[in-house]
Amino acid sequence: MTATRRLSLAIIPGFRCQLACMHCISSSSPNDARELSSYEIQTLAQTLENSVVESLSFTGGEPLLYLDTVVALAKAATIRNSEVAIKITTNARFADTKSSCASTLSQIPNLASVRISFDDLHRSSDFVTPIENIVAWTMAHGVRCSINASALNPMDLVLLRSLPSLGIPIAIGKIAPFGRARGMAEKLSWQEDVRTIPEALAGKCSATEKAVYFPKRGWTFCCSAVTFDCPEMDSEFFALRLEELDGVPALAVMKALSFSGMIASMLPMAEKPLHNCQICKTYWQGLKHG
Ligand code: SF4
Repeated sequence: MTATRRLSLAIIPGFRCQLACMHCISSSSPNDARELSSYEIQTLAQTLENSVVESLSFTGGEPLLYLDTVVALAKAATIRNSEVAIKITTNARFADTKSSCASTLSQIPNLASVRISFDDLHRSSDFVTPIENIVAWTMAHGVRCSINASALNPMDLVLLRSLPSLGIPIAIGKIAPFGRARGMAEKLSWQEDVRTIPEALAGKCSATEKAVYFPKRGWTFCCSAVTFDCPEMDSEFFALRLEELDGVPALAVMKALSFSGMIASMLPMAEKPLHNCQICKTYWQGLKHG
């Protein structure tokens, strides 16, 4: 990736979160110590100041537990593009009151989108008030707001009917058996087996145009980094500098080959893939051990 191309980037400030949801693919929790160092924050700010960034997303963990970092990096991204779209994915816990909601969101420059993670597995005694506060603030300030819900089983969809009419889009996804959800595989039986979806196998990874920065590891676009937690393989698919990302060999393979192509290039497989991302895991493990 060159610094002159308009970039779509994501940064994980850290993996700390007020919650420890059973389906969390990053296995986040209140005591998680994985976070950006001051050196990484400084280096990332320089990278953003020197790049034309079209959109910059913050995820986690709960990114708003790292508000100072989010604000500093968002400001850095405005230097070369004053219209950069800043996007946040949050569990909404910061918005228990109208004033805490406003004082947090109003600090983030160029805030364009707030995506709320909400489903039965995130549920607490009062889950509606924070969502209503965020919806009210974003509507008043012309910021897009949506809900991202995961469903453990089809009945979870009923929960979404308990929300008052909010007038915002709700995206519903299935839970992938990664991170803390690894042990839930038997509860996820309603998911399709990707081996029966020829279109999925014929396609390439759809994430290759969005670079994500992981604390202490670097830039990548491969979600294997969080879902499979194989630090010993970091050199295969992480770049410490954004401009080096195109030169990472493993990522170049993912850009070049479909999932079927990746499998065909390394048969026999160590295990049968059940999910698109598991195909990548199988592929990388095959490279490592094959
Ligand atoms: S799923 Fe989201 S809210 Fe739940 S522990 Fe993970 S990062 Fe936190």
